[in-house]
Amino acid sequence: MAKADRTSFDIVVIGAGPAGLGFARALAGRGLSIALIEAQSEAVLADPPEDGRDIALTHSSEQLMRDLGMWDHIPADQIGTIRDAKVLNGTSAFALHFAAQGSGAEYLGRLVPNHLIRRAAFEVVQGQEGLTILTGSEMVAVETDTARGRVGLKDGRVLDAALVVAADSRFSQARRKMGIAAKSLDFGRTVIVCEMTHELPHDDTAYECFHYDQTLAILPMHGLKSSVVVTLPTVHAEAALAMAPEDFAADIARRFEMRLGRMQLVTRRHAYPLVAVLARHFVTTRFALVGDAAVGMHPVTAHGYNLGLSGANLLAREVISARETGRDIGDITGLRAYEAAHRRVVLPLYHGTNALVRLFTDDRPPARLMRDVALRLGNSLPPVKSRILRQLTHIEK
Ligand SMILES: Cc1cc2nc3c(=O)[nH]c(=O)nc-3n(C[C@H](O)[C@H](O)[C@H](O)COP(=O)(O)OP(=O)(O)OC[C@H]3O[C@@H](n4cnc5c(N)ncnc54)[C@H](O)[C@@H]3O)c2cc1C
Repeated sequence: MAKADRTSFDIVVIGAGPAGLGFARALAGRGLSIALIEAQSEAVLADPPEDGRDIALTHSSEQLMRDLGMWDHIPADQIGTIRDAKVLNGTSAFALHFAAQGSGAEYLGRLVPNHLIRRAAFEVVQGQEGLTILTGSEMVAVETDTARGRVGLKDGRVLDAALVVAADSRFSQARRKMGIAAKSLDFGRTVIVCEMTHELPHDDTAYECFHYDQTLAILPMHGLKSSVVVTLPTVHAEAALAMAPEDFAADIARRFEMRLGRMQLVTRRHAYPLVAVLARHFVTTRFALVGDAAVGMHPVTAHGYNLGLSGANLLAREVISARETGRDIGDITGLRAYEAAHRRVVLPLYHGTNALVRLFTDDRPPARLMRDVALRLGNSLPPVKSRILRQLTHIEK
Protein backbone atom coordinates (compact mmCIF):
# COMPACT_ATOMS: atom_id res chain seq x y z
CA MET A 1 0.00 0.00 0.00
CA ALA A 2 1.29 3.43 -0.90
CA LYS A 3 2.83 5.33 1.99
CA ALA A 4 1.94 9.00 2.37
CA ASP A 5 5.32 10.59 1.89
CA ARG A 6 3.36 13.62 0.87
CA THR A 7 1.03 15.22 3.35
CA SER A 8 -0.79 17.70 1.12
CA PHE A 9 -3.74 16.57 -1.02
CA ASP A 10 -6.72 17.94 -2.90
CA ILE A 11 -9.05 15.76 -0.82
CA VAL A 12 -8.69 13.68 2.34
CA VAL A 13 -11.40 11.03 2.83
CA ILE A 14 -11.82 9.52 6.31
CA GLY A 15 -13.14 5.94 6.16
CA ALA A 16 -12.79 3.34 3.40
CA GLY A 17 -16.19 1.73 3.89
CA PRO A 18 -18.46 1.38 0.86
CA ALA A 19 -19.31 5.12 0.86
CA GLY A 20 -15.73 6.42 1.18
CA LEU A 21 -14.45 3.99 -1.46
CA GLY A 22 -17.37 4.79 -3.79
CA PHE A 23 -16.67 8.52 -3.47
CA ALA A 24 -12.94 8.06 -4.20
CA ARG A 25 -13.73 5.87 -7.20
CA ALA A 26 -16.25 8.37 -8.60
CA LEU A 27 -13.38 10.89 -8.82
CA ALA A 28 -11.07 8.61 -10.82
CA GLY A 29 -9.43 10.15 -13.87
CA ARG A 30 -9.99 13.77 -12.80
CA GLY A 31 -6.40 14.54 -11.90
CA LEU A 32 -7.16 14.94 -8.21
CA SER A 33 -4.80 13.87 -5.42
CA ILE A 34 -6.80 12.00 -2.78
CA ALA A 35 -5.78 10.41 0.53
CA LEU A 36 -8.12 7.75 1.87
CA ILE A 37 -7.60 6.99 5.55
CA GLU A 38 -8.85 3.72 6.99
CA ALA A 39 -8.39 2.26 10.47
CA GLN A 40 -8.71 -1.35 9.26
CA SER A 41 -5.86 -3.29 7.70
CA GLU A 42 -5.30 -3.72 3.97
CA ALA A 43 -5.90 -7.49 4.35
CA VAL A 44 -9.39 -6.86 5.78
CA LEU A 45 -10.28 -4.35 3.05
CA ALA A 46 -9.08 -6.71 0.32
CA ASP A 47 -11.10 -9.63 1.68
CA PRO A 48 -13.69 -8.36 4.16
CA PRO A 49 -15.23 -11.03 6.38
CA GLU A 50 -18.88 -11.97 5.86
CA ASP A 51 -20.90 -9.68 8.18
CA GLY A 52 -24.41 -11.08 7.74
CA ARG A 53 -25.68 -7.98 5.89
CA ASP A 54 -27.16 -8.59 2.49
CA ILE A 55 -27.77 -5.32 0.75
CA ALA A 56 -30.96 -4.74 -1.23
CA LEU A 57 -29.94 -2.51 -4.13
CA THR A 58 -32.15 -0.17 -6.11
CA HIS A 59 -31.90 0.07 -9.89
CA SER A 60 -30.03 3.36 -9.52
CA SER A 61 -27.44 1.75 -7.23
CA GLU A 62 -26.94 -1.16 -9.60
CA GLN A 63 -26.36 1.33 -12.41
CA LEU A 64 -23.94 3.39 -10.31
CA MET A 65 -22.05 0.24 -9.36
CA ARG A 66 -21.82 -0.64 -13.06
CA ASP A 67 -20.59 2.87 -13.87
CA LEU A 68 -17.94 2.62 -11.16
CA GLY A 69 -16.84 -0.78 -12.50
CA MET A 70 -17.87 -2.58 -9.31
CA TRP A 71 -20.61 -4.76 -10.73
CA ASP A 72 -18.21 -6.92 -12.73
CA HIS A 73 -16.36 -7.74 -9.51
CA ILE A 74 -19.43 -9.33 -7.90
CA PRO A 75 -19.71 -13.05 -8.74
CA ALA A 76 -22.94 -13.61 -10.71
CA ASP A 77 -23.88 -16.56 -8.52
CA GLN A 78 -23.91 -14.26 -5.47
CA ILE A 79 -26.46 -11.81 -6.86
CA GLY A 80 -30.06 -12.30 -5.79
CA THR A 81 -32.96 -10.79 -7.72
CA ILE A 82 -36.06 -9.39 -6.05
CA ARG A 83 -39.04 -9.60 -8.42
CA ASP A 84 -41.89 -9.41 -5.91
CA ALA A 85 -42.21 -8.02 -2.41
CA LYS A 86 -44.93 -8.73 0.13
CA VAL A 87 -45.63 -6.97 3.40
CA LEU A 88 -47.60 -8.95 5.99
CA ASN A 89 -49.21 -7.69 9.17
CA GLY A 90 -49.23 -10.18 12.09
CA THR A 91 -51.27 -13.25 11.32
CA SER A 92 -53.54 -11.41 8.87
CA ALA A 93 -53.76 -13.28 5.57
CA PHE A 94 -53.74 -9.93 3.79
CA ALA A 95 -50.48 -8.81 2.14
CA LEU A 96 -49.41 -5.57 0.48
CA HIS A 97 -47.96 -6.86 -2.75
CA PHE A 98 -45.43 -5.15 -5.01
CA ALA A 99 -44.65 -6.93 -8.25
CA ALA A 100 -42.09 -6.19 -10.93
CA GLN A 101 -44.62 -7.29 -13.52
CA GLY A 102 -46.47 -4.18 -14.62
CA SER A 103 -43.94 -1.86 -12.99
CA GLY A 104 -42.06 -1.35 -16.23
CA ALA A 105 -38.98 -3.15 -14.95
CA GLU A 106 -37.93 -6.77 -15.04
CA TYR A 107 -37.24 -6.85 -11.30
CA LEU A 108 -37.64 -4.63 -8.24
CA GLY A 109 -34.05 -4.79 -7.04
CA ARG A 110 -30.98 -6.91 -6.40
CA LEU A 111 -29.56 -8.46 -3.27
CA VAL A 112 -25.79 -8.65 -2.77
CA PRO A 113 -23.80 -9.60 0.37
CA ASN A 114 -22.21 -6.53 1.95
CA HIS A 115 -18.73 -8.04 2.18
CA LEU A 116 -18.74 -8.58 -1.61
CA ILE A 117 -19.76 -4.94 -2.18
CA ARG A 118 -16.92 -3.82 0.10
CA ARG A 119 -14.47 -6.12 -1.66
CA ALA A 120 -15.55 -4.89 -5.10
CA ALA A 121 -15.30 -1.25 -3.97
CA PHE A 122 -11.73 -1.86 -2.81
CA GLU A 123 -10.77 -3.78 -5.95
CA VAL A 124 -11.83 -0.99 -8.31
CA VAL A 125 -9.69 1.67 -6.63
CA GLN A 126 -6.50 -0.41 -6.90
CA GLY A 127 -3.96 1.52 -8.92
CA GLN A 128 -6.21 4.57 -9.23
CA GLU A 129 -4.01 7.45 -10.28
CA GLY A 130 -3.61 10.11 -7.61
CA LEU A 131 -5.15 7.96 -4.87
CA THR A 132 -3.14 7.13 -1.74
CA ILE A 133 -4.77 4.63 0.61
CA LEU A 134 -3.51 4.67 4.17
CA THR A 135 -4.72 1.49 5.81
CA GLY A 136 -4.21 0.81 9.52
CA SER A 137 -4.38 4.61 9.98
CA GLU A 138 -6.76 6.16 12.41
CA MET A 139 -7.99 9.74 12.19
CA VAL A 140 -7.74 11.33 15.64
CA ALA A 141 -8.17 15.02 14.83
CA VAL A 142 -9.80 17.13 12.14
CA GLU A 143 -10.20 20.86 11.70
CA THR A 144 -10.83 23.23 8.82
CA ASP A 145 -10.68 26.93 8.10
CA THR A 146 -11.39 28.98 5.01
CA ALA A 147 -7.93 28.19 3.59
CA ARG A 148 -7.44 24.41 4.21
CA GLY A 149 -8.58 21.36 6.16
CA ARG A 150 -6.23 19.30 8.35
CA VAL A 151 -6.56 15.69 9.46
CA GLY A 152 -4.40 14.31 12.28
CA LEU A 153 -3.52 10.62 12.32
CA LYS A 154 -2.81 8.46 15.37
CA ASP A 155 0.84 8.07 14.29
CA GLY A 156 1.30 11.84 14.57
CA ARG A 157 1.16 12.74 10.88
CA VAL A 158 -1.04 15.62 9.79
CA LEU A 159 -2.50 15.67 6.26
CA ASP A 160 -3.93 18.83 4.75
CA ALA A 161 -6.38 19.26 1.89
CA ALA A 162 -8.72 21.65 0.15
CA LEU A 163 -11.62 19.40 1.13
CA VAL A 164 -12.09 16.85 3.93
CA VAL A 165 -14.79 14.21 3.48
CA ALA A 166 -15.91 12.03 6.39
CA ALA A 167 -17.31 8.57 5.62
CA ASP A 168 -16.52 7.12 9.03
CA SER A 169 -19.86 5.44 9.91
CA ARG A 170 -23.04 6.53 11.66
CA PHE A 171 -21.07 7.02 14.88
CA SER A 172 -18.73 9.38 12.99
CA GLN A 173 -15.98 10.83 15.18
CA ALA A 174 -15.07 13.32 12.45
CA ARG A 175 -18.63 14.71 12.50
CA ARG A 176 -18.41 15.14 16.27
CA LYS A 177 -14.96 16.73 16.12
CA MET A 178 -16.23 19.20 13.51
CA GLY A 179 -19.05 20.19 15.87
CA ILE A 180 -21.87 18.97 13.60
CA ALA A 181 -24.80 17.87 15.73
CA ALA A 182 -26.72 14.71 14.87
CA LYS A 183 -30.08 13.43 16.01
CA SER A 184 -30.05 9.77 16.87
CA LEU A 185 -33.04 7.58 17.42
CA ASP A 186 -32.41 4.44 19.44
CA PHE A 187 -35.20 1.99 18.70
CA GLY A 188 -34.25 -0.16 21.71
CA ARG A 189 -34.14 -3.08 19.33
CA THR A 190 -31.51 -5.29 17.85
CA VAL A 191 -31.40 -6.75 14.39
CA ILE A 192 -30.04 -10.25 13.90
CA VAL A 193 -28.96 -11.10 10.36
CA CYS A 194 -27.88 -14.40 8.82
CA GLU A 195 -28.30 -16.53 5.71
CA MET A 196 -30.36 -19.68 5.46
CA THR A 197 -30.94 -22.36 2.88
CA HIS A 198 -34.40 -23.87 2.48
CA GLU A 199 -36.31 -26.71 0.86
CA LEU A 200 -38.74 -24.72 -1.29
CA PRO A 201 -37.98 -21.98 -3.86
CA HIS A 202 -38.46 -18.36 -2.80
CA ASP A 203 -39.63 -17.39 -6.31
CA ASP A 204 -37.54 -14.20 -6.06
CA THR A 205 -40.00 -12.81 -3.53
CA ALA A 206 -39.00 -10.67 -0.56
CA TYR A 207 -41.17 -10.78 2.55
CA GLU A 208 -41.47 -8.30 5.37
CA CYS A 209 -43.55 -9.84 8.17
CA PHE A 210 -44.54 -7.59 11.03
CA HIS A 211 -45.30 -9.95 13.90
CA TYR A 212 -46.24 -8.42 17.20
CA ASP A 213 -43.06 -9.22 19.12
CA GLN A 214 -40.63 -9.16 16.21
CA THR A 215 -40.21 -8.27 12.56
CA LEU A 216 -38.98 -10.86 10.13
CA ALA A 217 -37.66 -10.05 6.67
CA ILE A 218 -36.78 -12.87 4.28
CA LEU A 219 -34.96 -11.71 1.16
CA PRO A 220 -34.23 -13.90 -1.87
CA MET A 221 -30.58 -14.73 -2.56
CA HIS A 222 -29.24 -16.80 -5.41
CA GLY A 223 -30.67 -20.35 -5.52
CA LEU A 224 -32.36 -21.94 -2.53
CA LYS A 225 -30.94 -19.41 -0.12
CA SER A 226 -32.37 -16.38 1.65
CA SER A 227 -31.14 -13.55 3.78
CA VAL A 228 -32.93 -13.51 7.12
CA VAL A 229 -33.34 -10.30 9.11
CA VAL A 230 -34.95 -10.56 12.54
CA THR A 231 -35.67 -7.40 14.51
CA LEU A 232 -36.53 -7.88 18.14
CA PRO A 233 -36.39 -6.05 21.48
CA THR A 234 -32.77 -5.95 22.61
CA VAL A 235 -33.63 -7.84 25.83
CA HIS A 236 -34.65 -10.86 23.72
CA ALA A 237 -31.75 -10.72 21.27
CA GLU A 238 -29.24 -12.52 23.47
CA ALA A 239 -31.57 -15.48 23.92
CA ALA A 240 -32.11 -15.68 20.15
CA LEU A 241 -28.35 -15.59 19.54
CA ALA A 242 -27.79 -18.28 22.18
CA MET A 243 -30.27 -20.72 20.60
CA ALA A 244 -28.74 -23.79 18.97
CA PRO A 245 -28.50 -23.19 15.19
CA GLU A 246 -31.08 -25.88 14.40
CA ASP A 247 -33.54 -24.51 16.98
CA PHE A 248 -33.09 -20.98 15.66
CA ALA A 249 -33.65 -22.20 12.08
CA ALA A 250 -36.74 -24.18 13.10
CA ASP A 251 -38.12 -21.13 14.91
CA ILE A 252 -37.66 -18.92 11.83
CA ALA A 253 -39.26 -21.54 9.56
CA ARG A 254 -42.22 -21.77 11.95
CA ARG A 255 -42.61 -17.99 12.19
CA PHE A 256 -42.49 -17.88 8.40
CA GLU A 257 -45.31 -20.45 8.41
CA MET A 258 -43.20 -22.99 6.52
CA ARG A 259 -43.54 -21.01 3.25
CA LEU A 260 -40.00 -22.13 2.37
CA GLY A 261 -40.25 -25.56 4.01
CA ARG A 262 -37.51 -26.55 6.44
CA MET A 263 -34.69 -24.04 6.79
CA GLN A 264 -31.03 -24.34 7.73
CA LEU A 265 -28.64 -21.74 9.10
CA VAL A 266 -25.55 -21.51 6.85
CA THR A 267 -23.72 -18.49 8.30
CA ARG A 268 -23.04 -17.04 11.72
CA ARG A 269 -25.72 -14.83 13.23
CA HIS A 270 -24.64 -11.19 13.46
CA ALA A 271 -26.34 -8.66 15.73
CA TYR A 272 -26.56 -4.87 15.19
CA PRO A 273 -28.15 -2.35 17.57
CA LEU A 274 -30.86 -0.34 15.81
CA VAL A 275 -29.94 3.33 15.99
CA ALA A 276 -30.90 5.74 13.21
CA VAL A 277 -28.82 8.90 12.90
CA LEU A 278 -29.36 12.10 10.93
CA ALA A 279 -26.70 14.82 10.88
CA ARG A 280 -28.12 18.33 11.25
CA HIS A 281 -25.85 19.53 8.45
CA PHE A 282 -24.02 17.51 5.82
CA VAL A 283 -21.38 20.19 5.15
CA THR A 284 -19.45 22.96 6.78
CA THR A 285 -16.29 24.90 5.88
CA ARG A 286 -14.18 22.65 3.58
CA PHE A 287 -15.87 19.58 5.09
CA ALA A 288 -18.60 17.18 3.96
CA LEU A 289 -20.26 14.06 5.35
CA VAL A 290 -21.16 11.09 3.15
CA GLY A 291 -22.62 7.64 3.75
CA ASP A 292 -23.85 6.68 7.21
CA ALA A 293 -21.93 9.62 8.68
CA ALA A 294 -24.55 11.87 7.02
CA VAL A 295 -27.54 9.58 7.50
CA GLY A 296 -27.66 6.19 9.20
CA MET A 297 -30.95 4.55 8.25
CA HIS A 298 -33.02 1.90 10.03
CA PRO A 299 -32.44 -1.12 7.74
CA VAL A 300 -36.12 -2.04 7.32
CA THR A 301 -36.49 -0.09 4.07
CA ALA A 302 -32.96 -1.07 2.94
CA HIS A 303 -31.75 2.39 1.97
CA GLY A 304 -28.47 2.96 3.86
CA TYR A 305 -25.97 1.93 1.22
CA ASN A 306 -28.24 3.11 -1.60
CA LEU A 307 -28.26 6.60 -0.08
CA GLY A 308 -24.55 6.39 0.72
CA LEU A 309 -23.74 5.64 -2.90
CA SER A 310 -26.07 8.25 -4.40
CA GLY A 311 -24.80 10.89 -1.93
CA ALA A 312 -21.17 10.05 -2.67
CA ASN A 313 -21.95 10.37 -6.36
CA LEU A 314 -23.68 13.74 -5.88
CA LEU A 315 -20.73 15.13 -3.94
CA ALA A 316 -18.27 13.76 -6.52
CA ARG A 317 -20.26 15.51 -9.29
CA GLU A 318 -20.01 18.83 -7.41
CA VAL A 319 -16.26 18.38 -6.97
CA ILE A 320 -15.81 17.48 -10.65
CA SER A 321 -17.88 20.45 -11.78
CA ALA A 322 -15.81 22.80 -9.58
CA ARG A 323 -12.60 21.29 -10.93
CA GLU A 324 -13.69 21.58 -14.56
CA THR A 325 -14.74 25.20 -14.23
CA GLY A 326 -11.63 26.25 -12.31
CA ARG A 327 -13.47 26.81 -9.02
CA ASP A 328 -12.22 25.84 -5.55
CA ILE A 329 -13.30 22.21 -4.87
CA GLY A 330 -13.76 22.99 -1.17
CA ASP A 331 -15.85 26.09 -1.71
CA ILE A 332 -18.95 26.14 0.45
CA THR A 333 -21.29 26.95 -2.47
CA GLY A 334 -20.62 23.61 -4.17
CA LEU A 335 -20.81 21.80 -0.84
CA ARG A 336 -24.17 23.39 -0.08
CA ALA A 337 -25.50 22.33 -3.48
CA TYR A 338 -24.56 18.74 -2.58
CA GLU A 339 -26.19 19.09 0.82
CA ALA A 340 -29.44 20.46 -0.61
CA ALA A 341 -29.70 17.80 -3.31
CA HIS A 342 -28.89 14.94 -0.93
CA ARG A 343 -31.21 16.15 1.84
CA ARG A 344 -34.09 16.34 -0.65
CA VAL A 345 -33.73 12.60 -1.20
CA VAL A 346 -32.77 11.66 2.36
CA LEU A 347 -35.37 13.47 4.48
CA PRO A 348 -38.57 11.81 3.18
CA LEU A 349 -36.94 8.38 3.31
CA TYR A 350 -35.47 8.91 6.78
CA HIS A 351 -38.67 10.22 8.37
CA GLY A 352 -40.90 7.87 6.37
CA THR A 353 -38.87 4.86 7.46
CA ASN A 354 -38.94 5.88 11.12
CA ALA A 355 -42.70 6.46 10.98
CA LEU A 356 -43.19 3.04 9.37
CA VAL A 357 -41.08 1.41 12.10
CA ARG A 358 -43.12 3.15 14.81
CA LEU A 359 -46.40 2.07 13.25
CA PHE A 360 -45.35 -1.52 12.76
CA THR A 361 -43.76 -2.01 16.17
CA ASP A 362 -46.62 -0.51 18.16
CA ASP A 363 -48.69 -3.37 19.58
CA ARG A 364 -51.65 -1.34 20.80
CA PRO A 365 -54.94 -2.22 19.05
CA PRO A 366 -55.33 1.13 17.20
CA ALA A 367 -51.87 0.70 15.67
CA ARG A 368 -52.67 -2.87 14.61
CA LEU A 369 -55.82 -1.62 12.92
CA MET A 370 -53.95 1.27 11.29
CA ARG A 371 -51.42 -1.19 9.88
CA ASP A 372 -54.14 -3.24 8.27
CA VAL A 373 -55.79 -0.13 6.89
CA ALA A 374 -52.45 1.17 5.60
CA LEU A 375 -51.69 -2.10 3.81
CA ARG A 376 -55.15 -2.31 2.26
CA LEU A 377 -55.04 1.32 1.16
CA GLY A 378 -51.57 0.78 -0.25
CA ASN A 379 -52.87 -2.13 -2.29
CA SER A 380 -56.09 -0.58 -3.52
CA LEU A 381 -54.85 2.90 -4.42
CA PRO A 382 -52.61 2.46 -7.47
CA PRO A 383 -51.04 5.97 -7.24
CA VAL A 384 -50.04 5.37 -3.61
CA LYS A 385 -48.63 1.98 -4.46
CA SER A 386 -46.65 3.12 -7.46
CA ARG A 387 -45.24 6.02 -5.43
CA ILE A 388 -44.07 3.65 -2.67
CA LEU A 389 -42.67 1.37 -5.34
CA ARG A 390 -40.69 4.19 -6.92
CA GLN A 391 -39.37 5.24 -3.52
CA LEU A 392 -38.37 1.70 -2.66
CA THR A 393 -36.70 0.81 -5.92
CA HIS A 394 -35.79 4.10 -7.59
CA ILE A 395 -37.28 2.77 -10.82
CA GLU A 396 -37.84 5.87 -12.93
CA LYS A 397 -41.08 5.81 -14.90
C1 LIG B 1 -28.36 -5.31 9.33
C2 LIG B 1 -28.16 -4.28 8.27
C3 LIG B 1 -28.76 -4.45 7.04
C4 LIG B 1 -28.61 -3.48 6.05
N1 LIG B 1 -29.24 -3.65 4.86
C5 LIG B 1 -29.14 -2.69 3.91
C6 LIG B 1 -29.81 -2.85 2.65
O1 LIG B 1 -30.52 -3.83 2.40
N2 LIG B 1 -29.67 -1.86 1.71
C7 LIG B 1 -28.91 -0.75 1.95
O2 LIG B 1 -28.82 0.12 1.05
N3 LIG B 1 -28.24 -0.60 3.12
C8 LIG B 1 -28.35 -1.53 4.11
N4 LIG B 1 -27.69 -1.38 5.29
C9 LIG B 1 -26.87 -0.16 5.49
C10 LIG B 1 -25.45 -0.28 4.94
O3 LIG B 1 -24.83 -1.45 5.41
C11 LIG B 1 -24.68 0.96 5.40
O4 LIG B 1 -25.42 2.10 5.04
C12 LIG B 1 -23.31 1.08 4.75
O5 LIG B 1 -22.53 -0.04 5.04
C13 LIG B 1 -22.59 2.31 5.31
O6 LIG B 1 -21.36 2.50 4.65
P1 LIG B 1 -20.35 3.63 5.11
O7 LIG B 1 -19.19 3.52 4.22
O8 LIG B 1 -21.05 4.92 5.24
O9 LIG B 1 -19.97 3.26 6.62
P2 LIG B 1 -19.23 2.00 7.22
O10 LIG B 1 -19.50 0.77 6.44
O11 LIG B 1 -19.60 2.00 8.67
O12 LIG B 1 -17.67 2.32 7.04
C14 LIG B 1 -17.00 3.29 7.81
C15 LIG B 1 -15.51 3.06 7.69
O13 LIG B 1 -14.83 4.10 8.37
C16 LIG B 1 -13.74 3.54 9.10
N5 LIG B 1 -13.45 4.44 10.22
C17 LIG B 1 -14.28 4.79 11.24
N6 LIG B 1 -13.67 5.65 12.06
C18 LIG B 1 -12.42 5.86 11.55
C19 LIG B 1 -11.31 6.66 11.97
N7 LIG B 1 -11.36 7.41 13.08
N8 LIG B 1 -10.18 6.63 11.23
C20 LIG B 1 -10.11 5.87 10.09
N9 LIG B 1 -11.13 5.10 9.66
C21 LIG B 1 -12.28 5.10 10.38
C22 LIG B 1 -14.28 2.19 9.56
O14 LIG B 1 -13.21 1.30 9.88
C23 LIG B 1 -15.07 1.74 8.34
O15 LIG B 1 -14.30 1.01 7.41
C24 LIG B 1 -27.82 -2.32 6.30
C25 LIG B 1 -27.22 -2.15 7.55
C26 LIG B 1 -27.39 -3.10 8.53
C27 LIG B 1 -26.75 -2.90 9.89
